Amino acid sequence: MKKIVLASGNKGKLREFQDLLSGCGFDVVPQSDFFSENAEETGLTFVENAILKARYACAQTGLPALADDSGIEVDALNGRPGIYSARYAGIDANDEQNNQKLLLELSNVPAVQRTARYHAVLAFMRHAEDPTPILCHGVWEGVILSEPRGVGGFGYDPLFFVPTHNCASAELSKDEKNCISHRGKAMQELLQKLSTLVNK
Ligand code: IMP
Repeated sequence: MKKIVLASGNKGKLREFQDLLSGCGFDVVPQSDFFSENAEETGLTFVENAILKARYACAQTGLPALADDSGIEVDALNGRPGIYSARYAGIDANDEQNNQKLLLELSNVPAVQRTARYHAVLAFMRHAEDPTPILCHGVWEGVILSEPRGVGGFGYDPLFFVPTHNCASAELSKDEKNCISHRGKAMQELLQKLSTLVNK
C-alpha cells in the first residue's frame, strides 16, 4: 500500500478518502499523525489553496499528499463568498452565522437571480516540489433559497436548492449527496486519475 497524507483534520473526509482510494492501493493517513499546525490559506483561488495545503503536508512529512478546498459561488454577489465560504461572516463564524449573512445579502434578490454553485478542488502532489500536481475540480449547480430547509449536510446545505432533485441539499441523504455533489464529482475524477497513475 502506498501512503498518502490527507491535508485535513476532518475525520469525515479522512474516512471518505480512505474508502475511495484503498481499492487502488493507497493508504490514506491523516496529517495529525505527523504535525498539528495547518498551512496558511493565502491563495486567491480554490486551486492555489488546495496546492498550498498539499505542498505543506508533503514538506512536513516527505510523503505524497492530498488536499481539498471548496466553497460556494453566488452569482448575485459577484462570486462571493467563494474561497472565503468558511469565514464569510467572520474568522470564527459558524454555519448558522454564515447562512444568516448570505440571506441578508440576498434579501432583495429575486429567485431567478439567486443562482449559485459549489466548487471542490482536489490537489494530489507526489512531493513538495512536484511541478505537475494532479488537480480535480467538481462543480454542483443550485439556487439559494430564501429560508433554510432540511437538517442534513453542513455549511450552506439548508439554503442550497438542487433543481435536479427539487429539494435543498440538506434534504438529500448522505449517499444521494455524494453521488451528485461537487466533492463527489471531484473524488470520482481523482479515482480515475490515480488509477491511471498506478496502472502505468
Ligand atoms: P472546506 O474546503 O472544507 O474548508 O470548506 C469550505 C466551506 O465551504 C465550508 O466551511 C462550507 O461553508 C462551504 N462548503 C463546502 N462544501 C460544502 C457542502 O458540501 N455543503 C455546504 N457547505 C459547503
